[in-house]
Amino acid sequence: MKKITSYQVYPQIPESLAFLETLSRNLWWCWTPDAIELFRRIDPHLWSKAKHNPLAFLTYIEQDRLNALAEDRSFLSNLNKVKSEFQERVITCKDPQKTPFGKEGCIAYFSMEFGIHESLPIFAGGLGVLAGDHLKAASVNDIPLIGLGLMYRYGYFRQYLNQDGWQQEDYPQTNLFHLPMEKVKGNDGQDLIISIPAPNHPIRFQTWKLQVGRVSLLLMDTYISENTNEIKEITNRLYAAEHNTRLTQEIVLGIGGMKLLEAMGINPSVVHLNEGHCAFVNLERISQVMQKEHVDLKTAMEIVPRTTVFTTHTPVPAGHDKFSPELLAPYFNVYSELFGLPVEQIIRWGQEKDEQQHEPFCMSLFALRMAQFCNGVSELHGKVARHMWTHIWPSRADEEVPIGHVTNGIHVSSVLSPELVMLFERHLGPQWYLASQLKENMARVDDIFEEDLWRAHELSRSRLIRSVREHMSYQYGRRNASRRVMRAVESVLDQDALTIGFSRRYATYKRGNLIFRDLERLNAIVNNKDHPVQFVFAGKAHPKDHEGKEVIRQLIHYAEQERFRHKIVFLEDYDMHTARLMVQGCDIWLNNPRRPMEACGTSGMKAAVNGVLNLSILDGWWCEGFTDDRGWRIGNGEEYHDPDYQDAVESQALYNVLENDVVPCYYDRKPGGIPNQWVYKMRESIKMAMADFCNLRMVREYTERFYVPAHQRMQTLRENQWAEAKQLAVQHQRYLQHWQHIHIEPPTCSSRGPFKVNDTFNVTTVVHLGQLTPDEVEVQLYYGLLHGADDLCEGHETPMIVAEDRGDGAYIYRCDIICDGSGQYGFTVRAVPQYDEWLRFQPHLLTWVN
Ligand SMILES: *Cc1c(COP(=O)(O)O)cnc(C)c1O
Repeated sequence: MKKITSYQVYPQIPESLAFLETLSRNLWWCWTPDAIELFRRIDPHLWSKAKHNPLAFLTYIEQDRLNALAEDRSFLSNLNKVKSEFQERVITCKDPQKTPFGKEGCIAYFSMEFGIHESLPIFAGGLGVLAGDHLKAASVNDIPLIGLGLMYRYGYFRQYLNQDGWQQEDYPQTNLFHLPMEKVKGNDGQDLIISIPAPNHPIRFQTWKLQVGRVSLLLMDTYISENTNEIKEITNRLYAAEHNTRLTQEIVLGIGGMKLLEAMGINPSVVHLNEGHCAFVNLERISQVMQKEHVDLKTAMEIVPRTTVFTTHTPVPAGHDKFSPELLAPYFNVYSELFGLPVEQIIRWGQEKDEQQHEPFCMSLFALRMAQFCNGVSELHGKVARHMWTHIWPSRADEEVPIGHVTNGIHVSSVLSPELVMLFERHLGPQWYLASQLKENMARVDDIFEEDLWRAHELSRSRLIRSVREHMSYQYGRRNASRRVMRAVESVLDQDALTIGFSRRYATYKRGNLIFRDLERLNAIVNNKDHPVQFVFAGKAHPKDHEGKEVIRQLIHYAEQERFRHKIVFLEDYDMHTARLMVQGCDIWLNNPRRPMEACGTSGMKAAVNGVLNLSILDGWWCEGFTDDRGWRIGNGEEYHDPDYQDAVESQALYNVLENDVVPCYYDRKPGGIPNQWVYKMRESIKMAMADFCNLRMVREYTERFYVPAHQRMQTLRENQWAEAKQLAVQHQRYLQHWQHIHIEPPTCSSRGPFKVNDTFNVTTVVHLGQLTPDEVEVQLYYGLLHGADDLCEGHETPMIVAEDRGDGAYIYRCDIICDGSGQYGFTVRAVPQYDEWLRFQPHLLTWVN
C-alpha cells in the first residue's frame, strides 16, 4: 500500500456567515437550542445525515446553499442573535480578580471519559456524561476549570444484535478531521510531545484541545509515529479489558496529564479526580511540587492532599480498579528515586493492609488516602461509601468516615426537549437555565397552561415513536428480515399508549429483565384493551459481561413473541441521541436496580426535567427525589439477602404499582381530554429536577464546599516559602512518633443521675499525653443516644478543657454536659490532633479511653 497523505477540503464560508465556523469549533453550540436550530435550518436532512456534527455537516453543504444563506435576512438575524449570545456566554469572562480563585487559580478536572455530545465518542455512560456536564456547567458558571482525558480513536463500542439477540461490538474509527479540536503546540511551534518513562520504551503522546464554552478540554493521544505499535494503541479504546493496557491508560491520564499541564505552564491550585482511574495524578503532582517548590517529600505530602478532591462512583467493592504490584513496580521506579522511598512503600499507599506485600494496589484507595475532599454522588451512596471504606478508619464509626456526598445533577439545556425549551422561554424568560433554582422561577412553571404542557409532551412522544420506527426498520433491514416483518416494524408502537422507557447498562444488578418475570401479568398489562401499555428498551452490556448480554438476548426473545411484538421494542446502540429521545418522549422512566447498587442514576433526572415520571426502586438519587407528587416508588427501600426472593417480591410490587396507580392515573381523562392528575405530577417533577437536580447546583456545591476552600488552603500553605506546609510536615511527624503513648484513663462523673432535662453534670478524666502538649491534642467528650449496650449512634463531640496540669505529661480534663433531651445516653472520651481537618482525620491519630 502506498503511503497516503490526506487533506481535507472545507467549503468557502461567505464573510457574513463566518461565525458559523467559529460556532462549529466550540462545543458550546451543543447545549444552546438557538445554535442547534441555526445549523438544522440550513438543511435538516443533511444535519441528521451528519449525525449532528457541525464540522461534518459543513463539508456536506453545497456552496450554492451557503451563498444563498449569506443573503437570507431571516437566517442572518438568527445568526446574529446566536453570535451575541456567544459573545456574552463564551468570550466574556468574569474579572478573575473578583472571583475567589484570583488570577492564578485553576482546577484541573481529570476523568477517564467525557460525554459531551454523541459526535465526540469518548464516553461509555453515566460517568462520562456527568463529566461532560461538569465542564458545561463550569463554563456556564465561569469557573476556571480545565478538563483532562484521553482521545480514543475507536471510542467505546457501537452495539448491534445478531439474529439471536446476542450483542455484537463494533469499533469504528473516529474521523478526527470532523472533531472541533486542535493539537497543542509547544513553544517551538511544533506539536507538543510529552514523554512518560516506562519499562521498555517511553510512552509519548500528543494532545488535542477542545473548547467547551469557556472551558478547555485536553485529550491525550498516544497514536503518534514516535511510539512503538503497542504504545500507539494504548489510547485506542475506552475501558480496554486487558490489564496492562488499562494500567498504561491510567498512567497516561494521571501522570501524563500532570506532565502535560506542567509543559503548558499550567499549575492547578486544585485537582479534582473523577473516580479512581485518575489517581496516579497524585504521584506526579507530589514530585512536581517537590521539584518546583524545592520542598521535601513530607512537605509535598502535606500540600497535595489538602488541595485534592476525589469523587467516588462505585458502590460495589469489585468495581474498583486494582493492579498487581509486579505490574506497577516498573512505572514507580522513577518516583522511588525522586521520593527516596523503596517502591514497595509507594505501592503500600494503595494497599489495604501493611503486611501483605502481594495485595493489589487499589486506585480508589490511593485516591481516598490522598484527598481531603472525598465524596459519593448521592446521599445514599455517600453512606454506602462510608461503610465500604470504614476499615481504613478502623477507630471511627461509619458516620465519621470523612466521605461526604454531592448529589449529581444534569445539565438541563443539554436534555430538555425543544417543545419544553419553547415553553420555558415563554414563561420563565430567555435565560431560564441560569436562574432555574430561583423560587420565583419555579413558581412560573405553575403558570404554564396544563394543555400546553401536555401537548408539548405528546409532541415529544410522537417524535420518539417516529424515531423508533425508523430505528427498527434500520435494525431489521440489516438483519435481512422478511418483508412481512419489515412492514410490521414500520408501524410498531402506538402514538397514544402509555409508554415506559428503560435504558441503562445491562449489568445484572440493574435487572433489565425484571418486568418479564411474570409473563402473564405483563401480558395483561400490555394488552389491556382500553388502557394499553408499551415499552422502549435500550442499553449496552459491557463486552466482557456475558450475563448482561444474556439479559439482552432474553429480552429480545420475549419482545419477539407474537403478543408483545408490537408493544415492546429494543433500540440498538444506545447513545446520547437515543437517550435524549427517550427521556423526552416516554411517559414513565423505569428503574429497578438492586438497592443500594445504583450510586446515583442521572437518566431519571433527565426524564424528570422533561416531565417524564419516574417509577423506581428507592435507590440512588430517587431516595432524595421521591414524593407521591412526583412519581412512584417500587417497594420501600428494603434490602434483601436472597436475590431470587427479592426479584419475586419486587417484580410483583412493580406490577401492582403499574396496575393500581400508574395506568389508571394516565388514562383518567374525559374523551379527548387531559389526564389532570398526571400533568400535575409532571409539573412537580419538572420543578423538582430544576431546583434540586440541575448540575449548576452541583457545580456550585463542588465550588463552595471544595474548590474554594482547597484553593484558599493552597494560598495559605504557600505563604512565606511554604512555611505552614513545612511546619505541618514537622508536626505530622511528631504525631506519628508520639501518638501511641497517649493514654486516657476512664472518666468519672460528678453525679450518677438519673437526670432531668436541663440538668447538668460534669465529667473529668486524666489524660497522659507523653511528649505531646495540650496545644497539640484535643481531648473530646463523645456522647449521644445509646443503641444497645455499647453502641453510640450519631455521637456528638465537644472539646474538654484542661483543669489541672498534674506534671509528667498528665492532665486532668473536664467538661460539662447539659441534658438537653430525654433518653438513654452514653459518653466516652477520645483524643484527636488539635489541627486542621486533614490531620484530624488521619486514620491512626485517634485514641479512645482504654
Ligand atoms: C445520562 C446518560 C447515562 C446515565 O444514566 P444512568 O441513569 O446512570 O443509567 C448513560 N448513558 C447516556 C447516553 C446518558 O445520556
